[in-house]
Amino acid sequence: MKPKYLERVPELDGMIEKARVVTIVTHTHPDGDAIGSGLAMKHYLRKCRGKDACLVVPDPVPDTLAFLIADEPEGEILTHSRTPLQASRQVADSDLILCQDFNAFSRTAGLETALRTSPVPKILIDHHLNPDFNAFRLAFSTPDISSTSEYVYWILKEMPDIGGEASRLPAAARKHLLAGMTTDTNNFANSVFPSTLKMASELLDAGEDRDTLLAELYNNYRENRIRVMGYLLYEKLKITPEGAAYMILTKEDQDRFDLRDGESEGFVNMPLEIDRVCLSLFLKEEEGHFRVSLRSKKGVSANDCAMACFHGGGHELAAGGKLYFPEDVPAPSSAEAYILKVIKRFFKS
Ligand code: 5GP
Ligand code: MN
Repeated sequence: MKPKYLERVPELDGMIEKARVVTIVTHTHPDGDAIGSGLAMKHYLRKCRGKDACLVVPDPVPDTLAFLIADEPEGEILTHSRTPLQASRQVADSDLILCQDFNAFSRTAGLETALRTSPVPKILIDHHLNPDFNAFRLAFSTPDISSTSEYVYWILKEMPDIGGEASRLPAAARKHLLAGMTTDTNNFANSVFPSTLKMASELLDAGEDRDTLLAELYNNYRENRIRVMGYLLYEKLKITPEGAAYMILTKEDQDRFDLRDGESEGFVNMPLEIDRVCLSLFLKEEEGHFRVSLRSKKGVSANDCAMACFHGGGHELAAGGKLYFPEDVPAPSSAEAYILKVIKRFFKS
């Protein structure tokens, strides 16, 4: 039986049919799922539906994921932080906007105003908790799916022209969907549902080369990433009596190791390998704030902690947020004291 979360695909199909210019927007600091699901949708809309489709990202795709965009034609991916006018104009000139892998416009940084002021239908395709339903004409949203890439896969398979056949999807769309799902499940370690394995199986059947994809995703880093990982685990990892592990990557650390955007992806998962750790926090210093990543084991909610302590949210066991200075803490050096205070309070509540 078709799951409830796919019931409204015919409405989406109709809206796509009527549109000429379709823009896909995704979240700030785009990850593999954001880029993978966004590009897969773009390829489908262009190749199968003849639409003028474009992906707009708030900030650049990190070098670690550059292989995903290597073959993309110029002008089909716009980056708001690099070309704000062009990116905002693309959103403003669209007939239809697909908002993928985020739950509220506030997650799109500089694109928020363009999205809010656009009068055209906006469609949500996402798997995070607490979607802002009021902002969207139509919402495809469930936390019971591994990734937005998996969601896009099942939606596209429901489209009349695809007719349930993965082999009818453009090859580039298949590759991007497999990449997005793989990164968001941390290579099948988290949020894997029966449907997730079915998707993977069907994509392999359709000829996807998973070995090459894994090599591109996981065996292609600069040495710096591995060196800084060792340094953090050896020198900086701390664990509170409640079992909360935290690591703080300062600006100074990033300069010392010449760390680039995206190169600390996944570090937050490592402390969960320790038996007594039930919550892991990773703080990365940026201009005026720390970006905070949270991961937890069953029974502890990373989402609740992100909402209560870091102006954020996400999923039950994987969430993110921010810690601002001087608003939340007087200076970056006060972050550790803040963590110790809020973690104690969080575990008491
Ligand atoms: P990550 O730690 O990998 O950056 O993010 C983990 C999850 O939390 C992702 O699903 C991401 O979309 C979400 N997330 C990250 N940062 C934020 C944030 O500032 N606010 C909200 N609401 N979600 C976030
Ligand atoms: Mn995702």
